[in-house]
Amino acid sequence: MLFGFCVFCNQPKQAYLYNMRFDIITVLPSLLESPFAHSILQRAQKKGIAEIVVHNLRDYASNKQKSVDDYPYGGGSGMVMGIEPFANCIEKLKVARNYDEIIFMSPDGVTFNQQIANQLSVKGNMMVLCGHYKGIDQRIRDLFVTREISIGDYVLSGGELPAAVLVDAVVRLIPGVLSDETSALSDSFQDGLLDAPVYTRPADWNGHRVPDILLSGNTPEIEKWRFEQSIERTKIRRPDLLE
Ligand code: SAH
Repeated sequence: MLFGFCVFCNQPKQAYLYNMRFDIITVLPSLLESPFAHSILQRAQKKGIAEIVVHNLRDYASNKQKSVDDYPYGGGSGMVMGIEPFANCIEKLKVARNYDEIIFMSPDGVTFNQQIANQLSVKGNMMVLCGHYKGIDQRIRDLFVTREISIGDYVLSGGELPAAVLVDAVVRLIPGVLSDETSALSDSFQDGLLDAPVYTRPADWNGHRVPDILLSGNTPEIEKWRFEQSIERTKIRRPDLLE
């Protein structure tokens, strides 16, 4: 059974109903074309597991110039994105479906981590708002937004890259997206530990050998080694995770 064609790769979607849908609202839709058109995110859409729809905020501006920003009340530097285009877009999307979350990407939000990605991975429809310039009118945040998420303590020029980070981290967790479903579970942070080191062929590169245990074929011993390595690495690099 097919459910239409993927907007990115034009391939027919396979036998899944969408589990998840992201509606991303941005003034720079083209910035988000590439991140979702490759690899795992592309596969998730092709399989019909996750739908990612990007909306151009300017389409929702009612003024002739299609401008979405204005001077800040009270003066000061930088432009502020106005409430009207965001409100128009959000209201229109809400008519078509219910949303579990309306997320605003913002440096003053809660810092994104694996736990938040896990929480979001069981949700259905989510909107993601991308800010620009000095930010967005506070009333959008007060009236519509359910979560504010930062991808780290630094300031980027727009919310598009943070939105791509969030969507990637969440979509790869949905069952059926990764070809090896257990691999997401063994990733760093998933069990509170960093991942163990990984190696591939050749076993010997100019005298630099892969640890013998990995060539032994002894699965329980390999698992034990990986666990010990995870603990060791976490102790050294991220002792805070062990507290
Ligand atoms: N004046 C704001 C920063 C605005 S940066 C402040 O100091 O908080 C413009 C936009 O980029 C933000 O509205 C947000 O959507 C996005 N952005 C920048 N850094 C980000 C980060 N670390 N995490 C998430 N979004 C970010």
